[in-house]
Amino acid sequence: MARTGFLADTPCRIWAIWVNCAGMDRPAAPRNLICVFFAAVLAWLPAAVALPRNPAAAGDVGARFSAAARRAGLRLLEGRHLLLASDRPVRAGDGVEELPAVFDQAFATWCRHFGIDPAAHADWKAVGCLMVDREQFRLAGLLPDDDQIPDFKNGFCEAGRFWLMDQSNPTYRRHLLLHEGVHAFTLTLRSSTAPSWYTEGIAEYLATHRVVPLDEGPPRFIQTPIPAAAPDVEQLGRIEVIRRGRATARAPALDDVFQTPPSAHQSLDAYAASWAAVALLAGHPAHAPAFATAEQAPLDDRFTARLRRTAGWDDTLASRNFDAFTDELDYGYDFSRSSIDWSQGSPLVAPARIDVDATRGWQNSGWSLAKEGRHRLVASGRVTVGAIADTTLESEPEGISLRWYRGRPVGRLLAAQWVERPADGGRPRFVVVGEGSQSEFTALTDGPLYLKINDAPGDLADNAGRLGVQVE
Ligand SMILES: [Zn+2]
Repeated sequence: MARTGFLADTPCRIWAIWVNCAGMDRPAAPRNLICVFFAAVLAWLPAAVALPRNPAAAGDVGARFSAAARRAGLRLLEGRHLLLASDRPVRAGDGVEELPAVFDQAFATWCRHFGIDPAAHADWKAVGCLMVDREQFRLAGLLPDDDQIPDFKNGFCEAGRFWLMDQSNPTYRRHLLLHEGVHAFTLTLRSSTAPSWYTEGIAEYLATHRVVPLDEGPPRFIQTPIPAAAPDVEQLGRIEVIRRGRATARAPALDDVFQTPPSAHQSLDAYAASWAAVALLAGHPAHAPAFATAEQAPLDDRFTARLRRTAGWDDTLASRNFDAFTDELDYGYDFSRSSIDWSQGSPLVAPARIDVDATRGWQNSGWSLAKEGRHRLVASGRVTVGAIADTTLESEPEGISLRWYRGRPVGRLLAAQWVERPADGGRPRFVVVGEGSQSEFTALTDGPLYLKINDAPGDLADNAGRLGVQVE
């Protein structure tokens, strides 16, 4: 079959991204490339010519794409901002028909994030290929030859165009499509050449979502930068990777993430860490303003340095908050309940009474301990820690026996200190020094005592009440 030459003579921007996001649930896969800027791909591109802002509407790119797809017998789906060709057989209930409508809703979210007026880009449209048999697309001239494009495993984005291998899971397929869409958006509308930690992190941050089925029409798209529940993001696995990294002392510092070379995005660990960095910087009230300011400037290769020079940026605070975030991260994590007050407090020289809010994560007691000082803690009171069916669960400082979290009963009072160099290795973290209704402990470091009740970060919102704690 003669090739249409559609790709070969289409004006291209000389940026290309490898994507292999489906490898995220198979981290041991040997070709587990995720998204890597890949210089060799430039070989198949013509001389650098700016991509039309709107690949589908500028010139006849969209018309030629559609014509080539139709000639090859491919299915075409089109929304306002996405033209998608697929060889996936039509199957009721697989969600493929809804992809352009979900993409259009996501586009509005991306515009909001970057402060872009969607009306000014009403004709912006990405072209994508959702492929079961990539050879069909190659023969149709919709996918470059093997010697012109890396043999990507799951996805590849080049300016306003992307290619995506079909996924068996509808939720994961939708996620990967949107991930590629964010790349297409930032490459064309923001001319992004930002470091890979930002490029991959923002793609994940803006693609993570859940959908709400409606009585009629396509589902509603809701961006969830930190997923509320695992079923919302089937097969994604980022939170699990971060937690596994913390448990095995392999988790990176924020500075490590900033230094991530593109080639490192061949592992899920690097990919998850990039998402976590963007989720922290875009979501934590102490960092979000500086991050947003930096994002308004050019997204070029000096992005990280520019971020660090932005007014309001605090390198030490960001690094510590990143460690606290990855230490505590779980579904439904909420910065409004779990961000940490790092103030040093006053030296504890006499018994002190502290109230511990059941709806918040680690709370600074306001009292600072001296390393190796001996202390006694007595807790009392009763809080509620959610419900089972219509029955509210009440807990005293020992916790409840029928629900556990991270190896301890939910509701149990925990006392900890932030330790920069934990004895068992790994990144700085909170180390529990005392727990339950009564305990005696030795301070591990000079610094404040933190308290909370044991519960998942995403389950704090339905708690209520306070425990009273006396520390001496
Ligand atoms: Zn990517």
